Amino acid sequence: MKDLHNIPENAAGQMVWELPVASKMGDLPIKLDDTTLRDGEQTAGVVFSNEEKVNIARMLDEIGVDQIEAGIPTMGGDECEVIEEIAHLGLNASILAWNRASLDDIKTSLGCGVDAIAISLATSDIHIETKLRKDRAWVLDSIRKAVAFAKEHNVYVSVNAEDASRTELGFLLEFAAAAKAEGADRLRFCDTIGIMEPFRCYSIVKHLIEETGLEVEMHTHNDFGMAVANALAGLHAGATWINVTVGGLGERAGNAALEEVVMALKYLEGVDLDIDTKRFREVADYVMQAAGRTVSAWKPIVGSNMFAHESGIHADGVIKNPKTYEVFSPDEVGLERQIVVGKHSGSKTIEMKLTEFGIAITREHAADLLPLVRSKAVGLNRSLFDKELVELYHEFLVTAGVDPTVGLPTDTKAAASTKAAKAEKAE
Ligand code: MN
Repeated sequence: MKDLHNIPENAAGQMVWELPVASKMGDLPIKLDDTTLRDGEQTAGVVFSNEEKVNIARMLDEIGVDQIEAGIPTMGGDECEVIEEIAHLGLNASILAWNRASLDDIKTSLGCGVDAIAISLATSDIHIETKLRKDRAWVLDSIRKAVAFAKEHNVYVSVNAEDASRTELGFLLEFAAAAKAEGADRLRFCDTIGIMEPFRCYSIVKHLIEETGLEVEMHTHNDFGMAVANALAGLHAGATWINVTVGGLGERAGNAALEEVVMALKYLEGVDLDIDTKRFREVADYVMQAAGRTVSAWKPIVGSNMFAHESGIHADGVIKNPKTYEVFSPDEVGLERQIVVGKHSGSKTIEMKLTEFGIAITREHAADLLPLVRSKAVGLNRSLFDKELVELYHEFLVTAGVDPTVGLPTDTKAAASTKAAKAEKAE
């Protein structure tokens, strides 16, 4: 019988229970290919200036991303210029350019000096028949020619099977085999419209790798909220690359978010990608500002609410031991913990908050002040600023006719009254 009491834990404090399937996670190095500058910029309404594109590429390189998908050279103009500039910055990361299965596209990319070429071609019947107005034979012929041409120029070649998740598996294998025969380095499995779920995703990717022997990259979209889960499922099945974007920026509901993938791998799967996670919030802020957006408060990993606690039970727990309600420490992703005073606060929070302002309050007085804090928050329809709490405390002393030092331990009394006086002056 299995011993259910001594199961090892992961970094999130959860027991590492056996998976229902065989996992290759961690057998081979996992590499990150960031497409903020390509799929991210393809988001409706988003355009980066060339200066912003260069800054984003530098930041991604500094935090340790393996490959940067810099854009689409065949668009010409600014796009071509900035990709050439990024390719010549001397970054550690490989620089990948996106292409259709067109020799002209690839020639333009090669002219930019990139070291890696992505060749994208749709493989699902709906895309082949209604978008491309071609047939499967044309798709196979085109990918062969494009890959062979790119490989003649000694660049790394990623073959992107667009809409792979809706492609008949038999044809996807033929497509992958054709690309491999011409020397393709990897296959990008594109869940272009974000319709995969992790279990089927695992099965398909496992099959693909076993049948073709090609390295597989996961390109997942978040239409059903499963981009990161599907990316992880692919890794369990043996994929070795993940295509991510900062903050999950990307077409429609976006792509797998860089921050979520890295932290999930580290804390849930025990795989540390050696990425400078401390800069996650800074990088997300920069990219979102450049995209004309903001990092939403409830964004996983980098949202400001990740480490904000208001409810009495949670705040009390976190004050005693942050691990009661937090998986990792806020500084690990460049955030700060906030204890918020509001409708759901408890008296412990009030005691702690006032202490920050040099005010000592007895447990009884904090309990008496609590209903006033709650009704103030309801009246304002929001949480309280620290200053508003301090003001409320002073009002409470006057209206309740309370001597704040009564009930305090004698050694803190003197300190409390001088500090409170100072705090009042400082306001
Ligand atoms: Mn995409």
